Amino acid sequence: MSTARTALETEEHQALRAAVAALGKRYGRDYMTTVIREGGHTDELWAEAAKLGYLGVNLPEEYGGGGGGMAELSIVLEELGAAGSPLLMMIVSPAICGTVIARFGTQEQKRTWLPGLADGSLTMAFGITEPDAGSNSHRITTTARRDGDAWVLTGRKVFVSGVDMADATLIVGRTEDARSGKLKPCLFIVPREAPGFGRNQIDMELHAPEKQFELVLDDVRLPADALVGDEDAGLLQLFAGLNPERIMTAAFGIGMGRFALGRAVEYARTRQVWKDPIGAHQAIAHPLATAHIDLELSRLMMQKAARLYDEGDDIGAGEAANMAKYAAGEACVKAVDQAVHTLGGNGLTREYGLASLITASRVARIAPVSREMILNYVSHQSLGLPKSY
Ligand SMILES: Cc1cc2nc3c(=O)[nH]c(=O)nc-3n(C[C@H](O)[C@H](O)[C@H](O)COP(=O)(O)OP(=O)(O)OC[C@H]3O[C@@H](n4cnc5c(N)ncnc54)[C@H](O)[C@@H]3O)c2cc1C
Repeated sequence: MSTARTALETEEHQALRAAVAALGKRYGRDYMTTVIREGGHTDELWAEAAKLGYLGVNLPEEYGGGGGGMAELSIVLEELGAAGSPLLMMIVSPAICGTVIARFGTQEQKRTWLPGLADGSLTMAFGITEPDAGSNSHRITTTARRDGDAWVLTGRKVFVSGVDMADATLIVGRTEDARSGKLKPCLFIVPREAPGFGRNQIDMELHAPEKQFELVLDDVRLPADALVGDEDAGLLQLFAGLNPERIMTAAFGIGMGRFALGRAVEYARTRQVWKDPIGAHQAIAHPLATAHIDLELSRLMMQKAARLYDEGDDIGAGEAANMAKYAAGEACVKAVDQAVHTLGGNGLTREYGLASLITASRVARIAPVSREMILNYVSHQSLGLPKSY
């Protein structure tokens, strides 16, 4: 499939894209399907991507990373996704957690975590969503109380991805003296086996190696240095991690959309039930062309967001990252829907592997911030319209 994607990228970016695409091709959808069927994790792909320097490409060189930014990391996730083997944990481990620790962590936290996040030997999950807060993070009630030098965390989280695979989870809570009102978050690194840190797998209709968990923090006692950065700068720190999360979710959506579209185009070229292949019928061709255009457009916005973010413009990147996540989520859902339809009955068979993407593609619309919350953000922040909630 021809693509205009290279025009805006440096030679290094193009080379990275090609190299990751080659790695993705060696694993591909069959690998992913086998891992999912066997209930395992993508350990081999994770380790190889890390060894090649792809997972830590955004992390500082002095801690074993590649010294790049979100422009590079998003290329990695998009290309793995386009090959049918996306690594969802890249959104949280190097992108959110790696960024927050690199920008705001203490020297000790950087030394402890960044080399491992970069070489893939350590993984970190990220937990902000709560059952009674949902999209309204201001309502989170996970509370951190001081006890001497230690912190004691209590609360509940839901839908946290990959906690079983992660050595620790970066938990967003609030301190006891800021228990209600406007969110004054603080971030804690909670080791997987910390006493009182319980997890229950949520039964999702998702065909993916990464599982989602409800977390129960029952008086989880943490040392003073579990707090990331500064107690009073939590909001700034949190936002520094959320923009990479949105950019990476856009990459996830674009990759999945490209994968589905690729399968559909291949099918439309060869499947013949009248005198020409079905791809000659405009009713089949045009929606595929539209899906391609939408994916390309969302990549442009993702590249803009990554560039602004990497240049240090957190505010500018905020708007672009939201728009990129919105556009990519919608483009992904549409591309998958049209791909399934293009295959007729085969669109719903296991053999062709597209039906399971119907639910998977919705993730890009719902998480980490839903379509509606982005439309709210753009209505209020970009257009200055009044708020109804
Ligand atoms: C596969 C998957 C993986 C996830 N991984 C993680 C993770 O690793 N860590 C983590 O912390 N969270 C994770 N999440 C949670 C995700 O971020 C939330 O599901 C998401 O933020 C939406 O919150 P909610 O599900 O509570 O929906 P709700 O907030 O209850 O929203 C429900 C519906 O109402 C709409 N709505 C809500 N408020 C408004 C409003 N003001 N105006 C208009 N519409 C509104 C929403 O758009 C949505 O359609 C994951 C979710 C999924 C599905």
